[in-house]
Amino acid sequence: MMLAASAVLCSAFMLPTPVPAPETHSIARSGISPQMLDMDTIGGIAIALGGVGGGIALIALTEKAGQRNEEAANEQPCVVCKGARVVTCPVCQGTGRDQYADLVKGVREAAGEVGEKTTVITVDDWEDGPKQVELFKEILSKYPVKYSGSGTCINCDGRGVIVCDNCQGSGLQPRFLERYSPDDFMD
Ligand SMILES: [Zn+2]
Ligand SMILES: [Zn+2]
Repeated sequence: MMLAASAVLCSAFMLPTPVPAPETHSIARSGISPQMLDMDTIGGIAIALGGVGGGIALIALTEKAGQRNEEAANEQPCVVCKGARVVTCPVCQGTGRDQYADLVKGVREAAGEVGEKTTVITVDDWEDGPKQVELFKEILSKYPVKYSGSGTCINCDGRGVIVCDNCQGSGLQPRFLERYSPDDFMD
């Protein structure tokens, strides 16, 4: 009885898949009828299969899932803009016109915040020296100004859309860890 059980367990360990062929063979050789497979033995097999086989299967699945996640992360469209690279301006709701624009502008002027456009940055070029580069010019050129004049939304310059902040206009979902380089933590 113990012999049969250990033989069964042994093959169960070696074969995580529940194929009964080797087990029945060894049972027949030991002269034990299938009726003698009591609940303890069946339970033992179930534990062996569930514990070992199931555990391995689970690890394998988890590893595969991890790989899939990593591969998918590179291709995944940005969750915020759905790959469109821009999002509807939250200030004017996409109209390009903001009834509070002039008010906000006045407040910003009073606070001394008005200056260069935030989409324009100064890049230090090795050959030409510092020069101004307008960010996202290519992206925003597809979205002409919808409204200009008094009350133009200053958040989107009247375009009704702004470059997606989540993906910085790439249209691809950034992996959060990559958004920070070690340099960010060094001063
Ligand atoms: Zn706007
Ligand atoms: Zn985006």
